Amino acid sequence: MERRIDFWRERQMLCGRCDHRWRVDLDWIEWWDQVKETCPGCGMTCEHEDSPRVTIDSGDPALDDDRVAQFSWYHTSTQPDWPTRHFDPAASLTAETRRRMGGEQRVSAWAARQRAKALHAGTYEAAVHNMLRRMRDQADRRSQFSLYRVRLKPSVVVGEGWLVDPSDFVGDVMLDEVCPPGVDVARYLNYHEDPGGLSLALGREAIASVQRIAVPLPGTWDGDWVRDAVAALEGVSGTAVPATGTPARSMRLPSARAVLSRELGASLAGGLPVNLRAQFASAAAFTEGEDPEQWARRTSGLFDLIDDPARVLAALDRQDPREV
Ligand SMILES: [Zn+2]
Repeated sequence: MERRIDFWRERQMLCGRCDHRWRVDLDWIEWWDQVKETCPGCGMTCEHEDSPRVTIDSGDPALDDDRVAQFSWYHTSTQPDWPTRHFDPAASLTAETRRRMGGEQRVSAWAARQRAKALHAGTYEAAVHNMLRRMRDQADRRSQFSLYRVRLKPSVVVGEGWLVDPSDFVGDVMLDEVCPPGVDVARYLNYHEDPGGLSLALGREAIASVQRIAVPLPGTWDGDWVRDAVAALEGVSGTAVPATGTPARSMRLPSARAVLSRELGASLAGGLPVNLRAQFASAAAFTEGEDPEQWARRTSGLFDLIDDPARVLAALDRQDPREV
């Protein structure tokens, strides 16, 4: 069962000092982060330790234990076979690395810790947000991502209530820290991706099946934006120009095409929720020498992940589920 997808929805804030709860839009949060807003209850700004933070919306349907396993959950990854069945994290280590890690016993212990980490799944919005963040922060801009739709086993036991985001920023959390014996799935408040949404930490055994598509889906050629962008980009020079004057050594100015692509990307970004704009612009950056049509279709596809999720879900619907 799909939940309503809305990247623009209002969020619920909770003040740690005065317990005031209220709803805000994403623009308000942007102002708040810039210390231009205060808690309506006590006047505190974001600079204090117990200042208001985004929290779970009391109307979130995933708060209902019985419905958790009925909902579709999502995950983005550069792995084409997530969640890998016989995952051997040590497989890609070279002999040199194994030696530096302190020998085979240490390598085995490390691999066991890696395998004991929880898997994560979240809302569609959180999965897309995760991919954009990785494209910007973790040098994955050119990586091929997959979007997974996760079906849980109907019998899963859901941990009571929800946890505050237990992961550090790279998402590492040990499964047994969040799912004690008898619990298959833990809900947590996600601060970093789709802030205020509920995500899941879970083991592989909690998943019944996944469907997968490569993302972004390329934007369609007959879409006006793609056609216009390609015509504009082909009309300007794609050659980077050496800088004149000093220091000229190895310095090059971006080509007219790269400059124009940045403007085109920024104008698309302007139509997105404010909390995704910078990541989108970074993910859509043009590489000198890149084919304009390839760039335009990819950029348009990235935009559609947020602006037209129905097309993405329809592509997922056409994929056969893979049992996990
Ligand atoms: Zn307050």
